[in-house]
Amino acid sequence: MIPLTDGWGRAIKSLRVSVTDRCNFRCRYCMPAEGLEWLARDEVLSFEELERVVRVMAGMGVDEIRLTGGEPLVRRDVPTLVALLARVPGVADLSLTTNGVLLDRLAGPLVEAGLHRLNVSLDSLNHARFAEITRRDALDRVLAGLAEAERYPALRPIKLNCVAVRGFTEVEIPALAELARRRPYVVRFIEFMPLDADEVWRRDEVLSGAEIRALIEESWGPLEEIPAKASSTARRFRFADGAGEIGFVNPVSEPFCSSCDRIRLTADGQLRTCLFSRREWDLKEPLRTGASDAELERLIRFAVSHKELKHRINDEGFVRASRSMSQIGG
Ligand code: SAM
Ligand code: SF4
Repeated sequence: MIPLTDGWGRAIKSLRVSVTDRCNFRCRYCMPAEGLEWLARDEVLSFEELERVVRVMAGMGVDEIRLTGGEPLVRRDVPTLVALLARVPGVADLSLTTNGVLLDRLAGPLVEAGLHRLNVSLDSLNHARFAEITRRDALDRVLAGLAEAERYPALRPIKLNCVAVRGFTEVEIPALAELARRRPYVVRFIEFMPLDADEVWRRDEVLSGAEIRALIEESWGPLEEIPAKASSTARRFRFADGAGEIGFVNPVSEPFCSSCDRIRLTADGQLRTCLFSRREWDLKEPLRTGASDAELERLIRFAVSHKELKHRINDEGFVRASRSMSQIGG
């Protein structure tokens, strides 16, 4: 097997697959209140098409698949897709990122289908503030979804993702960090990136991982760094007394592009080699016009050979990505 490698020598091991651009939330850092113009149904790749892309990539050493969106659980029958992908030879790690609102019904079927890991977004533990940031009054349903997910020991660790926005997140930090101490959750804080469809992102709204760490330590005492995989997006920490794990995903203040092993597939079959890509590589057309696996492989290798060296958020004249987070698949 010839590994899938980009033009800078990085091996690509991880594919994020967006299964839909639709979502039942309207998080302020991601989507406008009125939603976006959704893809037509026939533009969205079928489960069979998704399975084929994953199989071709797994043949090149991509062993980590994460399903995302939009909200992946609003796509009908997602457990059926999970079952298809779990059977693809070479897929060692199959995970899903969700807002959690449909998890109370779907955690069981997802585990049964072969899901290994789960990331759930959670920005506030206060009902009013949760509704303010997501524009949906759904905290209780997300907590019920998490409680349901916890019932399945196969789904570990459960990671909670909080997008940290200055002026909003500071007061949430002690309670979110405490969750990591008393529940089987790794709580991760993600720096706000300029990927929101409303284009309201401003640099001074980025609450950095270092600032959050200081706030956690004020409440809960010192954090100690623990080893993370070289390709990990998160720096990992545990509380000095050993209870619980916190992660910091710091793409703005501490970019980790040099060890990036990720590519992305949008719901309409466009391959993106970076979250911040301005260019996409169409796989849908070849998939639908009879391309062979060898042809798909050549196309994917060609696209990956052009993978961007790094994002340019911190550079003068930064130009935003060609689509927003929910359309790309975060
Ligand atoms: N709907 C699912 C969810 O929210 O978990 C999956 C898709 S969402 C686009 C994937 C991740 O991107 C979530 O953890 C979300 O919080 C994060 N995200 C969305 N917009 C972001 C932004 N502007 N900056 C940083 N992270 C963002
Ligand atoms: Fe939907 Fe996830 Fe975007 Fe929130 S972050 S609007 S849940 S896609």
